[in-house]
Parts: sequence; C-alpha cells; structure tokens
Amino acid sequence: MKECDLIISAPWLLPIAPQNIALRDHAIAISHGEIIAVDTAESVLKNFKAQDVVELSHHILLPGLINAHGHAAMTLLRGAGEDQSLQSWLTDTIWPIEGRLMSREFVALGTELAIAEMLKSGTTTFSDMYFFPDTVAQTASAIGIRAQVAFPVIEIPSVWSDGVTDGLHKGLALFDEYRHHQLVSIAFGPHAAYTVKPENLQQVAMYANELDAQVQIHLHENAAEVADGHQQNGKTWIQLLHDVGLLSDNLQAVHMTHVTEADQQLIVDTHTKVVHCPTSNMKLASGYCDVSAWLDREVAVGLGTDGAASNNSLDLFRELRLAALMAKHQQQDPSRGAAAHMLHTATLGGAQVLSIADHTGSVEVGKQADVIAVSTAALDMLPLHDPFAALVHGDAGRHVTDVFVKGIPLLRNGKFNTIDTVTLAARVESWHSAHF
Ligand SMILES: [Zn+2]
Repeated sequence: MKECDLIISAPWLLPIAPQNIALRDHAIAISHGEIIAVDTAESVLKNFKAQDVVELSHHILLPGLINAHGHAAMTLLRGAGEDQSLQSWLTDTIWPIEGRLMSREFVALGTELAIAEMLKSGTTTFSDMYFFPDTVAQTASAIGIRAQVAFPVIEIPSVWSDGVTDGLHKGLALFDEYRHHQLVSIAFGPHAAYTVKPENLQQVAMYANELDAQVQIHLHENAAEVADGHQQNGKTWIQLLHDVGLLSDNLQAVHMTHVTEADQQLIVDTHTKVVHCPTSNMKLASGYCDVSAWLDREVAVGLGTDGAASNNSLDLFRELRLAALMAKHQQQDPSRGAAAHMLHTATLGGAQVLSIADHTGSVEVGKQADVIAVSTAALDMLPLHDPFAALVHGDAGRHVTDVFVKGIPLLRNGKFNTIDTVTLAARVESWHSAHF
C-alpha cells in the first residue's frame, strides 16, 4: 500500500476534465497538496493508506470554483448604492464613499469577509482588483485561499497610490515579492481603457509582456462606455487596446458587452480571455456578454461575481445559475448555457483565464487538491437525476460542506478552520456603526 496524506471519497465526482463526466463512488488520494490518484473508492482505499480519510455520504465532489473577477473588500459596501446606472453608481455613490473611508484596515476587514463568504459557497480561487493589494495578498495567504491579486493602475490618485507611475512602482515590487508564492499571484489591474491614458496602457503592455504577467481590465462594460470610446478615439476600446499591444493571451477582459463582429474576431485572433459577470451586468443594466458565442469560438471564458456592491452576493453558484439562464433567454434557445458548459466556466475555464490551469481547475492526477463537496441531502436537492443540473440550477452554494485548497481543509462539515467568523461578524458590525 502507498502512503498518502488524505483520501476523500464521495458518491459523485465531477472531475470537469474530461468534461461532462459524472463518476459514481470515486475517491481521490492526496499527497503534499497534490492529487496523486483518481479512481473508484474501492481501488483507492485498497491501494492507499492515508493519515486522514474523509468519506462523504451524500455529496458531489468537484474542483473548487474560481471567481475570476471581483473587488473583495467591496463587501463592506454591499447594498450601499442601489438602482443606479454604472456611471452614476460609480461617480455619485461608490467613489465618494471610498474616498471618505478607504484605508488599509478597510481592505483587510472587507477582504476577510469576502473570503469567508466565498469559501462558504465553494470558491477556492478568486481574482481581486482593489486598493492596498499587498493587504489583499497577505489576507488571502494567511487564510489559505488561492488568489490572483491585480494591483490597480488608474490615473485618479487614491490613498494607495498617487497615480499610474506610483501604482506601477508599488505593483511591480509586489509582483517580485510573490513571484514564487504557492497560492498568490500578482497581476496588473488597469481599471479600464477610459481611466488609464493610452500611453500608460502601452506601458502596462510592455511590462506585462516582459514579465509574462497577467493583466485584468474592465472592458466594454456598457453601451455608454463603448459610445464614449468611439467619440473620443474614433474606434472602440477593444481596438485601442489592440493598438497599444494589450490584446494577448495574457489579457483577461472583464464584461465584454456590446462587442461588434470585427472586435470579436480581434479577441479570437489574439487569444484574449473573457470574464462574464452576469449579475453585475444585469443589476447595472450594462448589457449582455454572449458566453455561448465566445465558447463556440473557443475563447477561454471564466465567471465572476464582480464586487459585492454591484451583486450583492459572492456565491459563484448563484452566478452560474444566472449565466445559464441568461444564455438561454438571450438566444431564445434552451439548449444554450448547458449546465456542464457553465460549470466548466466556473472551474477549469476560470483557471484558463487566470493562466493557472496547469495546477488547478479540475480533479486530475498531478493537479493541486483544490476541491469542494456539496451535500445533496437537503430537500431542495432531492432527488438527484443530474448532478450538473443540481449544481447549476439548485441552490448549491448553500450546501457546500467541505472546502480544501492544496489539500488543506479550510471548511470541514461547514465549519471554518482558519477564520473566526463570530469575531469577524462583530468587527464588520462595529465598522458599519462607526461610519454610517
Ligand atoms: Zn469589476
């Protein structure tokens, strides 16, 4: 018998690669955080001896979800600005509150709250773009969740940086610091094409290219932004990003609504990746990202919640359901947004977008053990005809019981190992009553 650290078995295993496969009564063996066997439970239990064996009785085991776009600390602004357009939501509500209250403590507290909410609903990797990215990286690393931290690049000065040059300087230092980190990677986060000058976008492209680093940007979020681009530049923002050298397989373009056929072709040709945030797009009435069309053209697509201020939840399972419904409704075709395809965007698709698919996003030998278990014992999950449909269209985020990142249990039987949620809730309440 071979030794390993942990065996997890469950009645259902959805490995995601290969796609569309549901395995019955399977188990995985984990050693030093890595998956070393995926086989029938009988075979794994016969061939491996583990220090810890987790036998799940009514569960679906699958790769942890990947929230490919968000602003974690905006959990503190959940519900603070409702029923506004993107432009008025940003300029009349969000930016003034951030201007008044932003601090390192704000980011530490809001990020911890976000990570707790994400873990509880099955997310094992998240991407962030916010002030004090060093604090976001530290918080993620201390809790043990995987993260891509995109440091902000924006002309507008903030408490974190004086502007683009200072932001790049601090961001590059952070990139160096986390270059070999096991859980956290640092990316460039130019806020949007309309908030960073073209010459500075060009500089970001140059650095990212040199360092082979990822870049995440809000792009074509709504019709007004796209119209402004035409008016200011005589071309779309997508074309402008192409001109400055940013469209590439290192670029993660978030939102991507109102995209012309010619611009779609540019995205396909440059292997640029797409992140879909359906709730945020619907809530701000921004537009529609045609996920099915991108998937048909073999563009890597991930799913994001965006910040809690425009969602208001960080439960990626809810996002999955909405993404599937939107795809069907928009195309007036119930065969679009199939559950297995959508689940792929929330797992391996997200990993491809963040360029971490070589080590996470699916349950395969050689990958890191980032896995979650969803209980199907609750009344609203019974009976289980189709595990993909149960995860995408059921309320699966509420039924996540166990979360492992790199084989480390962060949530076991619904209880956190690395977050004191009672104290956390009290700290959030006291922050709120001190400022509002
Ligand atoms: Zn965003």
